[in-house]
Amino acid sequence: MSSQKPRMTRDPAVDAAQRVTQPRGIPWAVGPGRYALHGAREALAPIRELHRPGHPVYTQGHGADFEDLCPDCRGKAGVHECGCWGDYDRDIYCATCRDEKGRHAVWPCATALLVYTTDELEETQ
Ligand SMILES: [Zn+2]
Ligand SMILES: [Zn+2]
Repeated sequence: MSSQKPRMTRDPAVDAAQRVTQPRGIPWAVGPGRYALHGAREALAPIRELHRPGHPVYTQGHGADFEDLCPDCRGKAGVHECGCWGDYDRDIYCATCRDEKGRHAVWPCATALLVYTTDELEETQ
């Protein structure tokens, strides 16, 4: 998905890098400031791994499983080259969060909003 009109993209790792480098007069995108961005990305990585989009799959005798979102078709309706097919867009849920009934919570969860970029969130909705 690409956007035609220019708009602000929010990246939580970039935001964090800017907050620690810019007050010190260090550019976050180049030189030593770049390590701030790497550090922020590293810190977010395990959280993103827990809170990732996909589809709960229930199979008899196996219980509940979780299928990660297909990076190619993102669960959209149709027949796709990636091998996915379906009549409807598949609903997307968080791999980790549960709702009050114990089911996977609808994506994006509150945590996802803090650890994914606005572009990534848009692409998974
Ligand atoms: Zn697919
Ligand atoms: Zn979550």
